[in-house]
Amino acid sequence: MSRFRGSVCKLCRREGSKLFLKGARCYTDKCAIDRRAYAPGQHGQSRSKISNYGLHLREKQKIRRLYGVQEKQFHSYFVEADRIKGVTGSNLLILLEKRLDNIVYRMGFSSSRAEARQLVRHGHVLVNGNRVDIPSYSVKAGDVISLKEKSRDIARVKDSVSNAEARGIPAWLELNQNDYTGVVKAIPVRDDLPTPLQEQLVVEYYSR
Ligand code: SF4
Repeated sequence: MSRFRGSVCKLCRREGSKLFLKGARCYTDKCAIDRRAYAPGQHGQSRSKISNYGLHLREKQKIRRLYGVQEKQFHSYFVEADRIKGVTGSNLLILLEKRLDNIVYRMGFSSSRAEARQLVRHGHVLVNGNRVDIPSYSVKAGDVISLKEKSRDIARVKDSVSNAEARGIPAWLELNQNDYTGVVKAIPVRDDLPTPLQEQLVVEYYSR
C-alpha cells in the first residue's frame, strides 16, 4: 500500500478528530476539522449509522494515521504487542510511542510526525551521539536524542523548538532547548499517553 498523497486534513475529518498531521496549522483556527466538522466527500454531511465493523475499522485507521504507519507495519506492531506480556492494546500504543520519529515530534524538534520522519530519514537526528536514519527505530529509557550541529539552523526546527514548551512536552521526556538535546527519561505507560484512543477496538479488529 502506498503512502497517502492527498490532503491530510481529509484524514482528520474522516476520523472525526484532530490527528495533528499538518504541523503549526493544526494549532490555529485554520484547522479544517474546526471549520468543517464532518467527513469529506459528497455524502460527508449525511448521517449514516456506523456498523460494528466500521467502528473497529475507524479506530484502527485513526491510530494508524495518527502515527503515520503503513498497514503492514501497523499489523506487525500488533503482532509484537500481542506477543509481549501485558495488555495488548496498551503494548501497541507504547510500541508506537517508542518510534524515533514520534519521539522527535514529542520532544518538539518538529511540528508534526511527518516532519519528524523527514528529519530522521535525512540524517539530522542523533541517538546517543550516533546518526540514526530509521524512523521506526525503537528508543530505550536513558537514550539521548539530539540534532546535528548544522541541523539546528533549519528555520522550521528553530520554530518548532521555540514553541515546544507551549505545545507541551510529556513528563517522560525532557528537552534542553539551548543545545537541542532531549532525554527519554522513561518508557511511557498507558496513562502517560494523552490522546483519547480506544486501542481495545484495534485488538478486537485484528482478533475477528
Ligand atoms: Fe488535522 Fe491539522 Fe488539518 Fe486540523 S489542520 S484537520 S488537525 S491535519
